[in-house]
Amino acid sequence: MKASVEQLQPYVPEQPLAELRRVLGLKKLVRLSANENPYGTSPAVARAVKNWDFNLANRYPDADARELRRAVATKEGVAPEQLVFSVGLDEMIVMVSRTFLAPNDQVLVSGPTFSEYGLHAEIEGARLVTVPTLANDHVDFAGLAAAVNPAVKMVWLCNPNNPTGTVESLAAIEAFVRQVPRETMVLIDEAYLDFVPDAVATTAMQLPAKYDNVVVMRTFSKAYGLANLRIGYAVFAPRYAPTMQAVRLPYNLNSLTQVAALAALKDQAFVAETVRKNAQERSKWLAYFKANGYQFDESAANFIFFAHPRAADLAESLKRNGYLLRTGLRPGWLRLTIGTANDNETLRRLITTFDHPA
Ligand SMILES: *Cc1c(COP(=O)(O)O)cnc(C)c1O
Repeated sequence: MKASVEQLQPYVPEQPLAELRRVLGLKKLVRLSANENPYGTSPAVARAVKNWDFNLANRYPDADARELRRAVATKEGVAPEQLVFSVGLDEMIVMVSRTFLAPNDQVLVSGPTFSEYGLHAEIEGARLVTVPTLANDHVDFAGLAAAVNPAVKMVWLCNPNNPTGTVESLAAIEAFVRQVPRETMVLIDEAYLDFVPDAVATTAMQLPAKYDNVVVMRTFSKAYGLANLRIGYAVFAPRYAPTMQAVRLPYNLNSLTQVAALAALKDQAFVAETVRKNAQERSKWLAYFKANGYQFDESAANFIFFAHPRAADLAESLKRNGYLLRTGLRPGWLRLTIGTANDNETLRRLITTFDHPA
C-alpha cells in the first residue's frame, strides 16, 4: 500500500435515506444535507431512459459521448474537443489530481471548501495548504496569491463555494489567474453556478481558451437533478484536453447516463424553474436568519451556511423531527440545503420552536 493512503480519512457519504428513516422511526425524513434538487428530475429524463434500446446493453457505450458532447459544447460556447466527461464531478477531481500531482507537491485552497480536493491531494502524496476565508467568508485572493510558490501545482476555486455559498466575480477570478504562474493549474468548480443570480456574467467558462492552466468544471447532480446518474464534465484548454482524454477510462459514461444527461440538458425549462424556486426560497431563508439575529453567509447557491450557539443539538433535534442538515464542516455551523416551500416553512417553525421553547 502506498504510504499516503494508510492514514486516509475517507469521505463520509450520505446514508441511504429509507434505512435511516426506519432507524429513526419516522414517517417522513427529508435530506437537506447533500444539496440535491428537491424538485426531482425533468420528466424528459425518465422518458429518455425508458426509451433507451436495451438491445444495446451488451455493447460498449460511445466512448466519446458524441451527441452529449455536441450539445454541451453548443450550450456553453466551447469547442467540443475541450470537453472531458466524468462519472460525477467527483471523478473529475480524481482525474485532475492524478494527472497534475506528484508526491510532495502542494495544493492550495480557500477554506472551508469541498473536502474532496484535499482527500485526493492526499492520496497523490501532495499536501493541502488552506488559506482561510475572509470574515465574510469570501475568498482571500491576496492571501491565496501570496501562498502560491513553485511547489503549488493546483489551486482550487469552488464558485459558488461549498459550504459557504459565497460567490466571487469573474473579474476577481481572472485577476487572480493573471497572478498565478502558467505552470500552476487553477481549477474552478462550478457545481452550483446555475443557482447564481447572474450566472452568465459569473461563469469562468471562457477562461480555459484564454489561459492554458484554467479548468472549469460542472455537474448534472445539482440544478439538473441527476445526482444518482453520476455525470459531470470539465472544460480544458486545447493544450491539456488530449492528455485528460488519455487519463480518462474510455467507457466511464454508460449509454443510459449519456441519454439522461442529454435529455436533462435539452429541458432548460426544468432547470430554470428549479433555479427560480430556489432563489425565491433562498430569499425567505436569508430574511429569516437576518430577522432572528443569526450569523450566516450570503448564499448564491442552493444551500445556506449558518451559525448556531447550539448547532449540534439543533441538528439532532431537526433530525428527530424529520430533517437532515449537514454538520461537521465548521464548529458551531450548519449547512442547510434549500428545500421545497413547504419543507422550508416547517423547518423554520421547528428552528424557532427550538430557540424559543414554549
Ligand atoms: C456536489 C459537488 C460536486 C460533485 O458532484 P458529483 O455528484 O460528483 O457530480 C463537486 N463539487 C462540489 C463543490 C460539490 O458540492
